[in-house]
Amino acid sequence: MTAVVATNETILVVGGGISGMTAALEAAETGKQVVLVEKRPYLGGRVSQLYKYFPKLCFPTCGLEINQRRAKTNPNLTILTMAEVTDLAGTKGDYRATVKLSPRFVNEHCTACGDCEKAVEAEFDDEYNYGLGKRKGAYLPYRMAHPQRYVLDPAIIGTPDAEKAKAACKYGAIDLEMREETLEFRCGAVIWATGWRPYDAAKIQPYGYDRIKNVVTSVEFERMADPNGPTGGKLVRPSDGKEAKKVAFIQCAGSRDRNHLLHCSRICCMASLKQATYVADAFADDAEINIYYIDLRAIDRFEDFYTKVRANQNIRFIKSKPASVVADKDGNPVVHGVDTEGYVRFAEPHDLVVLAIGMEPSVDKDAFPVPIVLNREGFIEASPQNGGVFAAGSASDALDVNRAVQHATGAALRAIQVVNSVARAEA
Ligand SMILES: Cc1cc2nc3c(=O)[nH]c(=O)nc-3n(C[C@H](O)[C@H](O)[C@H](O)COP(=O)(O)OP(=O)(O)OC[C@H]3O[C@@H](n4cnc5c(N)ncnc54)[C@H](O)[C@@H]3O)c2cc1C
Repeated sequence: MTAVVATNETILVVGGGISGMTAALEAAETGKQVVLVEKRPYLGGRVSQLYKYFPKLCFPTCGLEINQRRAKTNPNLTILTMAEVTDLAGTKGDYRATVKLSPRFVNEHCTACGDCEKAVEAEFDDEYNYGLGKRKGAYLPYRMAHPQRYVLDPAIIGTPDAEKAKAACKYGAIDLEMREETLEFRCGAVIWATGWRPYDAAKIQPYGYDRIKNVVTSVEFERMADPNGPTGGKLVRPSDGKEAKKVAFIQCAGSRDRNHLLHCSRICCMASLKQATYVADAFADDAEINIYYIDLRAIDRFEDFYTKVRANQNIRFIKSKPASVVADKDGNPVVHGVDTEGYVRFAEPHDLVVLAIGMEPSVDKDAFPVPIVLNREGFIEASPQNGGVFAAGSASDALDVNRAVQHATGAALRAIQVVNSVARAEA
């Protein structure tokens, strides 16, 4: 049984992405007791699924590793993975949280040796790679996952695969008796850092994501570029494995559009500029990259990155919101539209089309366990009506990592102020 010792001076952080980790660590390092609740089996959120960071093009794994190390060595921090807050009752300074823990079927004796993975046969879509590849029924979500502990897919429990995994484990780490648990504990303030999810590209009918294999999303392309990803870092077409040298990036795919997301996610332009460098680096002079855009938003320090990418002769910028993508007889996605600089119609075939989809809040409006003020897009508004609940990072808006981390640090400070006033009142 899992036990959590907490009081109304404890800070609860919901969501263990870069924002939740930051908020939790900042608060724990000032000496506050923090419980971090993450629904996935590991911390890091969507940043862990990025290949490189704009604008420096460094690897997110560096920053994540530093945070993982801070988390491992801080005794004030309790981390619950595969966990979700199902209820939050009370008021600022005195909440009672109910948390559901899903069974991992693997205990703390796991050394991540991988013997269970080799023993089982069943395979499932790999959610870490947005379903582009398969993973086994016993799996480590990704190489750097924290905690560094395997997971058994609940679908293999009760099948011979579960017994094979147990028999293969030399450390007694497979526990097939694990069951869902419900925990209840007190907390004084809550940091809500549940982040974002990619807009469902299938809803943008004219772009053919659900019909054309060689139309992918920007989050999928991020996994394709990663040497540890489903294609081993090779930029290839899903339809036939051919190298994707001629790539279209369609900006504002489902964003700034009254039929889809009204808002601008602000990072999509930067993400496509970054991904254009993946293609340019992979194929040098053979690369042909077309970026179709309404207007490019590269604000503040990102302007320099945009200028650098723009100077690349193999990257063309076409001012157009494409009307449609249609596959030709060879499976090439053809982008149709009008270049609004000159009003020229085009029908341009590519090897691959990447849709720069927007970020929407990961929690649906009616799924919050506590009343909370949301804006039109469903992101959390800062409001006194939220009591002791503070949004952190991209639960509050579509933010890049730098801004998400700054916002999370601010949220930690607000939560610390609440539990400090609880402590003063009780002294
Ligand atoms: C294609 C693309 C490329 C990008 N590239 C860059 C880049 O190069 N540089 C950059 O600065 N930014 C980039 N970004 C933006 C970056 O991904 C975000 O800034 C970052 O993910 C924000 O982190 P977060 O912790 O706020 O949210 P998330 O990463 O979404 O983390 C939220 C966490 O909360 C968890 N969670 C969700 N719901 C619950 C729940 N109910 N209970 C418990 N846990 C929950 C999730 O599992 C997740 O772990 C990119 C975005 C896209 C779309």
